[in-house]
Amino acid sequence: MEEIKSTNFIEEFINEDLAEGKAKEIITRFPPEPNGYLHIGHAKSLCINFGMKEKYHGKCNLRYDDTNPSKEDIEYVNSIKEDIKWLGFEWDEELYASDYFDRMYECAVGLIKKGLAYVCDYTAEQIKATRGTLTQPGEESPWRGRSVEENLRLFEEMKDGKYADGTKVLRAKIDMASPNINMRDPVIYRVLRATHHRTGDKWCIYPMYDFAHPLEDAFEGITHSICTLEFEDHRPLYDWVKINCGFGELPRQIEFARLGMTRTIMSKRYLKKLVDEGKVSGWSDPRMPTLSGMRERGYPPEAIRRFCQEIGVSKSQSEVDVLMLEHFVRDYLNINADRMMVVKDPIKLIVANATADEEYQIENNPNAEDKSTHKVTFSRELYIDRDDFAPVPPPKYKRLVPGGKVRLKGSYILEYVSHECDKDGNVVSVTCNYIHDSISGGVNAGIKVKGVIQWVNAKDCIDLTLHEYDYLLLDGDGDFNDRLTPNSHTAYPNAKGESFLATVKEYDRFQFMRMGYFSAVKGYGKDGKYEFNQITGLKDSYGK
Ligand code: ATP
Ligand code: MG
Repeated sequence: MEEIKSTNFIEEFINEDLAEGKAKEIITRFPPEPNGYLHIGHAKSLCINFGMKEKYHGKCNLRYDDTNPSKEDIEYVNSIKEDIKWLGFEWDEELYASDYFDRMYECAVGLIKKGLAYVCDYTAEQIKATRGTLTQPGEESPWRGRSVEENLRLFEEMKDGKYADGTKVLRAKIDMASPNINMRDPVIYRVLRATHHRTGDKWCIYPMYDFAHPLEDAFEGITHSICTLEFEDHRPLYDWVKINCGFGELPRQIEFARLGMTRTIMSKRYLKKLVDEGKVSGWSDPRMPTLSGMRERGYPPEAIRRFCQEIGVSKSQSEVDVLMLEHFVRDYLNINADRMMVVKDPIKLIVANATADEEYQIENNPNAEDKSTHKVTFSRELYIDRDDFAPVPPPKYKRLVPGGKVRLKGSYILEYVSHECDKDGNVVSVTCNYIHDSISGGVNAGIKVKGVIQWVNAKDCIDLTLHEYDYLLLDGDGDFNDRLTPNSHTAYPNAKGESFLATVKEYDRFQFMRMGYFSAVKGYGKDGKYEFNQITGLKDSYGK
């Protein structure tokens, strides 16, 4: 293989192993536990693992780490696949750790035969109590000296369902005085009666993560097992299992720092709690940091990948500012989202001197390479946003005011004539005259006006509901339960959009002029559902 320059410590390790001939083809894996939906932290891991596949022209497997039956579900298995595909990655093989239960069992039997594992009758509490501390060694279990024959018989009986849950475990026989607590005779199999989503009730013993994971990697010929930093102290055990079960120097475990992000939470346990308690509409709620939530929100997968590339890999835990992710979202949409006109809270605008309907071609996106346009229609009755007319203007107000002028985006300059209010003093309509030849290119186009506002044609606009979201969590670092942002969802059910928006598809993304970026919701256009989620605002405050 040609020499490939490393840009981070993971690639340095890989290059080392290639140079020394330990690895020929680089094979990584993404190993989610199917106990929740993937989130933006998983995207970092996906980008690293699939990034190695791409960079080294190797492989990357999708492997479900489904060795803990009680929390797993097929719903999660399916959502994980959908989200990986959405991000734009293709796995080589789709594998399940549970497919290796027989081989893992054989490996455990092999360890027993070598005198390297024993059945222990301690309960979980007793094991914990005798494990020792950072400064004190642990105590040896009274069952540590069981003979190979007895251990083989007991382990088989564990498998055959002779013992109640929690009454017996299989432990690796390593060193109760090891300075690394993970090496103090860790549990490698436990008795657990739980129906597994793939193997059903075939097994009533299940392997522990630290035993299962290196074996899964080794069975698949994974060369580099990339995981998060909390497994650094488990690496000696990873290597112990690998070597004592008869494998070589590879797979090699390499750790990197987890991604944390401000204003949200990444733990699946907490995210599940939000779902179960109904604090959000589900795992795909647009406020969730899940990939499916981000998809509903309208985040482009390209922007998520750019973000992951930018944060890179590191060994130090840190919290990334959510504004950075939003920066890449905006950066992408600025080039890729067409501009449309929408009013959130409409008031009528009568163009008193307009006699004929008109139509214009408006540029879709001034920042796009192709100079495509779409049709916008104009008539005597329009809608503008309530915020764009002020009967008594506050200081520095630049939009329509009594006695003033304003330009309609892509159309005429208007001159105020009058306005009407209801009995509570709320404006219901504004009447203006348009100035002849004031459309861009016309002889009066140069007349000075302070503001440009968006508008829609009352004759053909469509009724929309807009959804805006705040961050899931308030700033700070207290308990997340006390930091949930109250009312983080606001709906605007009376919005109106230009007619083009009747023709778009679910997940299409736009910049609604002067408002922000929006994405058509799932099922858009079906059964009269014309709704948009706000992706993000227009203003970029990252790095300020
Ligand atoms: P949790 O503890 O919330 O269940 P997990 O780490 O157990 O999360 P898995 O589904 O087991 O989640 O993780 C699959 C892969 O994604 C693992 O390799 C894990 O290290 C990685 N991963 C999970 N969370 C993050 C994160 N916040 N940043 C980077 N990688 C992550
Ligand atoms: Mg996990």
